[in-house]
Amino acid sequence: MAVERTLSIIKPDATARNLTGKINTRFEEAGLRLVAQRRLKLTREQAEAFYAVHAERPFYNDLCTYMTSGPIVVQVLEGENAIARNREVMGNTNPANAAEGTIRKDFGQNIEANSVHGSDAPETAAVEIAFFFSTCDIVG
Ligand code: ADP
Ligand code: MG
Repeated sequence: MAVERTLSIIKPDATARNLTGKINTRFEEAGLRLVAQRRLKLTREQAEAFYAVHAERPFYNDLCTYMTSGPIVVQVLEGENAIARNREVMGNTNPANAAEGTIRKDFGQNIEANSVHGSDAPETAAVEIAFFFSTCDIVG
């Protein structure tokens, strides 16, 4: 296993319910280190660009509306096997199908408002990290 970095987002449903600290604790307890973090509100243009890979999906328009509906926290998580590890800690996309003890099971509201985003592969992690952070913002 290698030390990796992944892009994580705490989504508007979670910031609205003041869950940032509780979610960050899940990451830290799973051995993931928060090496960069910023709170911001996405513009429509940014949300559409970030989720461009989903542009043809039926949920794309609603997803972009939801992701611009409130503040988010973007963060870089670092650790052994961080991309897969983070996705384990997040759980299934649909909170109704997520395993016990995962973030989405415990905090997610529905398949759209599922509290967290995590990159799905090394290539997408690199692109998604660069979308929000420059190298000097990340301190490992
Ligand atoms: P994941 O976030 O688990 O990698 P996807 O990349 O497939 O999932 O989808 C990106 C995001 O789009 C999801 O986290 C969720 O917020 C939203 N989404 C996915 N599938 C649906 C759906 N069927 N209906 C509504 N929103 C969805
Ligand atoms: Mg995805």
